[in-house]
Amino acid sequence: MFKRIRFRLVLVNTIVFSAILVFICAILYGFTREQVLGRIDRSLYSSAHSAERGMISRSLYRPEPDAGPAAPRFGQLPTTYLVWSDRGTFIEQVPIGQFTSVEYNLFRKHLNLTRPFTTAVQGHSFRVLDVPIRVETPDGAVHGMTVQVVRNIDETQHELAILFWIILATIGVGLFMVMGAGLFLAGRALVPIRKAWERQQNFVSDASHELRTPLAVIQGQSELLLRHPDHTVEEEAGNVATIYEEARRMRKLVDSLLTLARADSNQLELNVQTVQLSGILQSLTDMFTLLSEQRDLSLSFDLEPAIDVTGDEDRLRQLMLILFDNAVKYTPAGGSIFVSCHRKGNAVEIEVRDTGVGIAPQDLPHVFDRFYRGDKARSRANGGAGLGLAIAHWIVQAHHGKISASSTLGVGTKFQVLLPTRTTGRAQSPSPAN
Ligand code: ADP
Repeated sequence: MFKRIRFRLVLVNTIVFSAILVFICAILYGFTREQVLGRIDRSLYSSAHSAERGMISRSLYRPEPDAGPAAPRFGQLPTTYLVWSDRGTFIEQVPIGQFTSVEYNLFRKHLNLTRPFTTAVQGHSFRVLDVPIRVETPDGAVHGMTVQVVRNIDETQHELAILFWIILATIGVGLFMVMGAGLFLAGRALVPIRKAWERQQNFVSDASHELRTPLAVIQGQSELLLRHPDHTVEEEAGNVATIYEEARRMRKLVDSLLTLARADSNQLELNVQTVQLSGILQSLTDMFTLLSEQRDLSLSFDLEPAIDVTGDEDRLRQLMLILFDNAVKYTPAGGSIFVSCHRKGNAVEIEVRDTGVGIAPQDLPHVFDRFYRGDKARSRANGGAGLGLAIAHWIVQAHHGKISASSTLGVGTKFQVLLPTRTTGRAQSPSPAN
């Protein structure tokens, strides 16, 4: 799939760049050609002006003394004047003998053109200007004539042809370079897209895999219930409880998936307001004190009072819940959990420390990845799908903060969160933790 996208990108890139290149080169060539021909035309007009005056004073009829056919004639041809009657009859050429009658007759068809033009005669290029004039003969009669001012432009055409081929070669080389650069750039541009796509694929397949287990349990238990339609709810309380528990687990999983999916598509907005962080932590510690007692855990706090941050209260509560919940889940009976919250410059530092099972060094860099579970059996038994820390990571990122974990296997784990005291409103999509 990515090969095809890359090919298409390169193709579109090459077409667009080629069009731009051709356009620029065409302008360059056209402009140069206009400049060169313009210069020749200006000189033709000036020659025409002299010719007109010469015709009137008849001086033009005097051939130039050293003019005459030379080999190669056209390459060194001076400006030649072809004089035609108003009926199109050839009168004479000045200097004489420059063109044979066959050659000068080829110019006849261009008589009376109002602008200078280029024509080819016997394989040579000429720039020609037709000048209508009126000549008074000694007997007083006025004759209409046309003087064609003819200039050989072989050299100019040759130079223009060289320029044209250079431009064409430049376009060709440019095309190859654009294609090469396109391939390289498209390859590079596709790397993050490919990674994001693979991440998304993994996310979908992991999510489906996680959903399959509770669904299979629910289906199995329901089938058991259906086998004994005469049993009372009391008799089947165990199966019903399992179904309920799996449905609850599934609901939690779907909620987490939805949060991450919305975060990915930037659909989650933070409801930003001033939040009393110490208040949230206090209410959660009250809640967890009972739970810790039940699990024979010692819970202690060091909370600086009246710490305010700008953020989303619900999301910050969710973040703390995830960290507290993990500390309780992964700390065996007899262990302790320590929570602290302090100001640190323009930020607030929250630490949740436990003396639990710890995280293996190879697992530590991945704990914020989606569906990553260190000890799968333990995590699943605890009802975890490996999404809690990914959500925590997103919440911290959305608040422009930082979250990190440090741990020693068998000794304990510490999660540290740094939140700036001022936060803007838009949620950021979670980046590296996937
Ligand atoms: P889960 O729902 O599996 O707990 P999390 O994303 O919250 O998913 O955590 C990912 C993994 O990180 C867990 O499976 C566990 O291996 C590890 N982990 C998280 N918190 C702790 C902790 N306090 N102590 C030990 N391991 C932890």
